[in-house]
Amino acid sequence: MRKKQFKAESKKLLDMMINSIYTHKEIFLRELISNASDAIDKRYYRSLQTDTEGLARDDYKILISVDKDARLLTIEDNGCGMTEQELETNLGTIAKSGSLDFKTDNDTKTDVEIIGQFGVGFYSAFMVSDEVTVKTRTAESEQGFEWVSNGADGYTVAECDKESVGTVITLHIKEDTEEESYSEFLQQYRIESLVKKYSDYIRYPIIMDVETRKLKEGTEDEYESVIEPKQLNSMVPLWRKNKNEITDEEYKDFYMDKFHDYTAPLHIIHSKTEGQVSYDALIFIPEKAPWDYYTKDFEKGLQLYSNGVMIMEKCADLLPDYFSFVKGLVDSADLSLNISREVLQHDYQLKLIAKNIEKKIKSELSKMLKTDRDKYVKFFEAFGSQIKLGVYADFGRHADELKDLLMFYSSSEKKLVTLSEYVGRMKEEQTSIMYACGETRDKIDMLPQVDACKERGYEVLYLTEGIDEFAIKMLRTYAEKDFVNVCADNVDLGTDEEKESIKQENESSKDMLDYMKLALSGAVESVRFTNKLKNHPVCLTSEGEVSVEMEKVLNSIPNEEKVHAHIILEINSDHPVAAKLKELYENDKDKLTDYTKILYSAARLIGGMTVENPTELSNLICSLMI
Ligand code: ADP
Repeated sequence: MRKKQFKAESKKLLDMMINSIYTHKEIFLRELISNASDAIDKRYYRSLQTDTEGLARDDYKILISVDKDARLLTIEDNGCGMTEQELETNLGTIAKSGSLDFKTDNDTKTDVEIIGQFGVGFYSAFMVSDEVTVKTRTAESEQGFEWVSNGADGYTVAECDKESVGTVITLHIKEDTEEESYSEFLQQYRIESLVKKYSDYIRYPIIMDVETRKLKEGTEDEYESVIEPKQLNSMVPLWRKNKNEITDEEYKDFYMDKFHDYTAPLHIIHSKTEGQVSYDALIFIPEKAPWDYYTKDFEKGLQLYSNGVMIMEKCADLLPDYFSFVKGLVDSADLSLNISREVLQHDYQLKLIAKNIEKKIKSELSKMLKTDRDKYVKFFEAFGSQIKLGVYADFGRHADELKDLLMFYSSSEKKLVTLSEYVGRMKEEQTSIMYACGETRDKIDMLPQVDACKERGYEVLYLTEGIDEFAIKMLRTYAEKDFVNVCADNVDLGTDEEKESIKQENESSKDMLDYMKLALSGAVESVRFTNKLKNHPVCLTSEGEVSVEMEKVLNSIPNEEKVHAHIILEINSDHPVAAKLKELYENDKDKLTDYTKILYSAARLIGGMTVENPTELSNLICSLMI
């Protein structure tokens, strides 16, 4: 039989598994048991939906058996099984979602991180075994199939006899080496304790033939060894237990196993709700976004259970888009078991649950912000952009509830601050919340306009994400203060006298400024003098609704109509360059044209924009040198 090769990425991952430095080899059992349980869920759910003759709920089980001499550990389930095609796609490819960046030579990611990205899954079996055999059959066919692999060099699939529907996975446990012991995974007590530790909540009985010593019948003090089946798990789902009976470790393991994360959750919300609708919810806020979070494959949703039986893997209706990073599950006795997706969408109970959950997550986040700032900042760094999206989405419908969860980097505090903190320390004469946009904090910090605000003692919020300014525009005001972009023309700095004097300066230089505008052939709305810049010669400001930053963001969206910010070139009236320009207007207009172009290009670069004609700029600068 021809051996098939694993897909390239899979091969690398397998290599890593086989030679793993992964310290928790023992989790392989949890992974295989979880798969078995999922497979039973699927079969049970299908039988409910199609009314086909499935097994009774009590007949479903997971069997574990050990053959110490042959070094075999077997995990058997009577779940949905796999077709030949499914065997290929599920076990022949690891990276089902296409192109994944695997470890390159100079990559600093550790094996654990990479393995973790996939949910350790079925392949963890190779951490403890040198040959894995999977025999499986679905309810739709009489024919069974056998998948065999000894690791990275490939696998075979062949027809086999299999009497019952389900899957049997047999691991040939590796021989012990000097550094590593594997035989422990053939010990009855070790398996018992692993099941207890990781899989106690599995809702189907996990049964193993266990050797116990019993009083010999008819005697009073003679014992004998008997082997009899024993159920190893308590089957109480974690979320049904009382909070005080659950350790942090249990929550963490449950989360990492069920939601395939390799880092512990940042925050756990476990709640029981009784009332109009009753349900248990176990909700996790991850510490980091999952690797596929920003791909189109990512699906939001919570698992939905009806009385302990999973009815949907990802119920999207339970989470608003801006909480799409949240993982978890909801279990309610008030939902019908064989409810279809379509009906569920309109289900009143479900809507109520979704609303409660949304409220709960919000209130937990506000609480975190108040009581554990560091943790909240960690959260915000990972998922703050979602909160901002939430403020912006649906025409600002949720803006009010979310605005106090926002944070922005502050020029004076040099850390993330909330809007309420900002407003709380605004200067007496300050009327607006000031912000500036740019690619990075450093770049914003260098903006002439920001410098001018800082000099005057104003705090400026630095907006570095594309969504930021849109979210702020959606808010319009916070605590009755409006927001101003310090790079916009309506920013109100300086005294009335200063304003009056610059007005006069602009009026008296009107002809020259108009000449300069013409020299830029329509690139700017106007050219004018300013006294708000302290040390810098020029800057660009924008007038009207669209700021320079918004122009960048909007124009980067394909197929959107292009927009243009109305740009004004501002020149520092106190800078020597201003005097020079005036002099050129009198004596050398051609040179004034060239200088204007250079100043405009410089201002564009400072504002984080590209120069429209770099060759012309280069020629102009060179002409100054010769
Ligand atoms: P995951 O469980 O995260 O999807 P795995 O690598 O553990 O990844 O398993 C890959 C797939 O193989 C599963 O999604 C499932 O479709 C299938 N599979 C694994 N074990 C079983 C089993 N015991 N019965 C049926 N299907 C299984």
